[in-house]
Amino acid sequence: MSEFAPPPPTRILMGPGPTNVAPRVLRAMSAPTIGHRDPAYFQACDELVEHLRALFRTKNELTLALPATGMGSMECCVANLIEPGDGMIIGNNGVFSTRMADLAERYGAKVRLLKKPWGEVFSPAEIEGALKEAPAKVVAVVHGETSTGAMQPQMKQIADIAHKHGALLLADTVSSIAGAPFEMDAWGVDAVYTGGQKCLAAPPGIGCISFSPRADEALKNRKSKVTSWYFDLTMIRNCWNKNRFYHHTGPVNMTWALLEGLRMVREEGLDARIARHGKAAAALYAGVEAMGLALHVKDPATRLPTLTTVCVPEGIDEAKVRGMLLERHDLEFGAGMGELQGKVWRIGLMGENARSNNVYLALSTLGAALKELGAKVNIGAGIEAAAAKLK
Ligand SMILES: *Cc1c(COP(=O)(O)O)cnc(C)c1O
Repeated sequence: MSEFAPPPPTRILMGPGPTNVAPRVLRAMSAPTIGHRDPAYFQACDELVEHLRALFRTKNELTLALPATGMGSMECCVANLIEPGDGMIIGNNGVFSTRMADLAERYGAKVRLLKKPWGEVFSPAEIEGALKEAPAKVVAVVHGETSTGAMQPQMKQIADIAHKHGALLLADTVSSIAGAPFEMDAWGVDAVYTGGQKCLAAPPGIGCISFSPRADEALKNRKSKVTSWYFDLTMIRNCWNKNRFYHHTGPVNMTWALLEGLRMVREEGLDARIARHGKAAAALYAGVEAMGLALHVKDPATRLPTLTTVCVPEGIDEAKVRGMLLERHDLEFGAGMGELQGKVWRIGLMGENARSNNVYLALSTLGAALKELGAKVNIGAGIEAAAAKLK
């Protein structure tokens, strides 16, 4: 062995996640590791589920956390909803829906993609059109598409249409939950998943899911076993109910972290937290535009408040700018992915970071870097426009 790696630097994480973890959550995470069969652990799990129901705004019995990231939570939802040969319609307008299609096909789904340019969203009529062409067991949309900065509106209408045609609605809420409005029961969404490291401001490595009674019924009516052993909710749910079944070793310290993150959401109030994200985003949008830069998502009604895609001006090397910000200011922005690679920066205002200080930091450091590289930007106008929204 040559050398130990250096300790991690302290960064300001304003990309698509992970985001900065609250010191309180990091402290909670370093509480003792206890047995996952300890009554104290079960009590913490019971509290955690109550917080998750409040977070998703649901009464769903089948609501729990998973030792997995957001992708693992996506896989869990698909694995439990899909049996080989089942039809699935996926609204495809970014990276995460593209991944979901690949994932669902591996579980034997007959996937039909409803395509839209990256940065756009789906109308309920478009979803209905696809369902009229041929029925499907599951319709899936990404509520907050972190790769494009777009947020899918009219979720209730889409759920109503899915139900009218006998389908379940699955939604990816990894980057939207706790940062944008989401109402699982009121909208009628049947299956959702999220991850700890975005607007919940916990570390990566723990995920959460919830299934409606309708989705639960579909799970109970499966003709075949869930194709994934590890993600089989028919077993995992028995860890969380009074059976206290042993399926996998509970991720004890990750549970402490997520629990503390969720307590912080409760203390702040979910509505207040969502409003805080909305206010920070509005200031960033105003600042970016007043500075002379363009936002990739044109329709303000479909912008994801937790992640903003800013168009890279002509002749600017986007990676160079990110490198300057990281090196000089310990500030991380995300790069464009897929078809937006090289074309946008992705600026996250998630969890602890959705605050005015980070809006000013993003605008001033991005503006200064662009000016140095010869782009025409009006930094003062950007700061003033943001300030007007942050009063
Ligand atoms: C981050 C993210 C994921 C994937 O989560 P991981 O924790 O990276 O596995 C999935 N969907 C969306 C919308 C995301 O933003």
